[in-house]
Amino acid sequence: MNVLLVDDSSTMRRIQKTQLENFGVDKIIEAGDGEEAMEKLETSMPIDIILLDWNMPVMDGLTFLKEVRKKSEYSKVKIFMCTSESEKPKVFEALQAGANNYIVKPFSPEALKKKLEL
Ligand SMILES: [Mg+2]
Repeated sequence: MNVLLVDDSSTMRRIQKTQLENFGVDKIIEAGDGEEAMEKLETSMPIDIILLDWNMPVMDGLTFLKEVRKKSEYSKVKIFMCTSESEKPKVFEALQAGANNYIVKPFSPEALKKKLEL
């Protein structure tokens, strides 16, 4: 399984990366904002899952999500929004825009594993 981690917090990316490595995920690509994520997605396919932060500079998570869902070549890529508790009311908008699921930060390895069905 190949995962694209998108978060402007390098600390958050490191935590998630460690969790995913422990689950035996094959390839983990990182990006610090939506624009970088789009470049990485274009050059790193096949990607199975994108773990997507909401608030980021340059291009936020929701904008990136909408851009990805405009492109048919990425229709099979699953997108999970990583939200804080305070962002939870916005989750519906992300699901409407094509996110497959969401996970509330901070999450345990078990919660991540369950969500990703690893
Ligand atoms: Mg952020």
